[in-house]
Amino acid sequence: MQKNNLLSDFSIVARPGKVHRVADFDPAYTASVNGKEEGVKLLKQNVKELIGLQDQLFAHNRYAMLLIFQAMDAAGKDGTIKHVMSGLNPQGCEVYSFKAPSATELDHDYIWRTYKSLPERGRIGIFNRSYYEEVLVVKVHPQFLVAQNLPNFNDHERPTPDFWEKRYRQINDIERHLTENGTVILKFFLNVSKKEQKKRFLQRIADPAKNWKFSANDVRERAFWDDYMEAYSDMITATSTEYAPWFVIPADHKWFMRYAVSNILINRLMELDLHYPVLSESEAQRLKEAEKLLLDE
Ligand code: ATP
Ligand code: MG
Repeated sequence: MQKNNLLSDFSIVARPGKVHRVADFDPAYTASVNGKEEGVKLLKQNVKELIGLQDQLFAHNRYAMLLIFQAMDAAGKDGTIKHVMSGLNPQGCEVYSFKAPSATELDHDYIWRTYKSLPERGRIGIFNRSYYEEVLVVKVHPQFLVAQNLPNFNDHERPTPDFWEKRYRQINDIERHLTENGTVILKFFLNVSKKEQKKRFLQRIADPAKNWKFSANDVRERAFWDDYMEAYSDMITATSTEYAPWFVIPADHKWFMRYAVSNILINRLMELDLHYPVLSESEAQRLKEAEKLLLDE
């Protein structure tokens, strides 16, 4: 049993139908976990528990799990994915990273590249960034829209609020379709504070083993911090739904962030009431016959 059920902790889950601002969520929140040592221990237990649940998800074969990760740079997407998924069977789990779209991708609608990468029934799919970039980085830098050759967009004007409302609606429609057809969606915004991001960038510069993670472009994007927070706030408000809620994961303490994601994943899997397939009478009979054949050899 989980110590907390963070699925219903309103310091983390963005309640559907309410107006949310990122500033209302505390990046240093740790629920009732008593410090790093306990957090690390709880994560370890969760990783073990996830192995069993993943096995059941696979055998049950009715649901796919889609985990979407969005965050500012250095919030810890990669580390969280690595730690939470560390014990899983690689056959039932796939990670996709979405970077700036290629020319071919730009020739399709913005959902296309992600739709092709959705998890199969019984599997866990992880999106490291996603179609949500289309209402985040693209909203902060609307000049990206020019390359999309959209019929309803004038290259020389800034997109209207209505343009973004339509995108939120399109995303909600797609997610509704997916959940109604067996894909369970969990969306994580790893919420790091501006101060903590600076600290992590400086560590990447100071530590030779972390130099490779440093990108001068990340520091340039940091200058748009307030615009990003606006975009995240509007996105969470518009697209946190009953069927695909946003979780604003406090990211200033890495140990808590990782534990929180594992906790939410486990609790959601438990809600699915997964079970191993039960054999019909004739199937059970055939199993008995096979057993007899083997024993009589
Ligand atoms: P890491 O830095 O940990 O390797 P990352 O996800 O930050 O991982 P980068 O190559 O640094 O990877 O950045 C990818 C960039 O692609 C991000 O700046 C992101 O905003 C951008 N991007 C992703 N999707 C889109 C999109 N649809 N349109 C424009 N830019 C996008
Ligand atoms: Mg990056």
